[in-house]
Amino acid sequence: MTQTLIAGNWKMNGDKAMAKAFAAELAGLREGVSLGCTLLLCPPFPLLPILAEALRNAQIALGAQDCHFATSGAHTGDVSAELLAELGCSHVILGHSERRSDHGEDDALVRAKAEAAQAAGLTPIVCVGESEAQRDGGRAQEVVLGQLAASRPQATGGLVVAYEPVWAIGTGRTPEAEDIAEMHDALRREAGEEVALLYGGSMKPGNAAAILAIDNVDGGLIGGASLKPGDFWEIARAAGAA
Ligand code: PEP
Repeated sequence: MTQTLIAGNWKMNGDKAMAKAFAAELAGLREGVSLGCTLLLCPPFPLLPILAEALRNAQIALGAQDCHFATSGAHTGDVSAELLAELGCSHVILGHSERRSDHGEDDALVRAKAEAAQAAGLTPIVCVGESEAQRDGGRAQEVVLGQLAASRPQATGGLVVAYEPVWAIGTGRTPEAEDIAEMHDALRREAGEEVALLYGGSMKPGNAAAILAIDNVDGGLIGGASLKPGDFWEIARAAGAA
């Protein structure tokens, strides 16, 4: 198993000034510390070159929040995986529940994007997760494993899967530890040993150590708490100690 991965998803937040200040503070915290985890930041597309420059020597990886499945062409508003790689990205988040709901992305599209990302040398972070109604109806595992089967790329080398219960994203609510453990066990059985499994949904400094200590949790995908360098760093430290 590779190192624990702590990935920050900034969503549609941040601007040039914030990115520069964030990078300076995080790089300062990171300097000289031997961390037992990989740190990854996924800002909005236009901030990628700014963070790439500001984090050049900081051992903090960069990722994007989406890509197109084609390498180029008439796809207004989209960005190719090749361009992301050229800009210094190592990862790309795909199939986040906000893209599934805001843009109608389905499993087949997510799989096509994930395969394009791998072809460009990027590691896709494929997101899966049940709604509250699906969990209440006892269908959480069926839904999540169904999403995994239909949206994962064929090749599992260099693949990350993020389990993000939709009802836990940005709400301050998290599943019980045993529910996370049960889902990650099921994902491990389906995905295999070489796929890294992240948990995402209201992870913060106060709960990170406990979540990251759960079996088959190989890291975290962090939204809100990744916008504050101090909080993101505390989660990284918890991961390093896990
Ligand atoms: C996310 O949207 O990927 C996420 C985990 O958000 P938050 O940490 O804010 O719940």
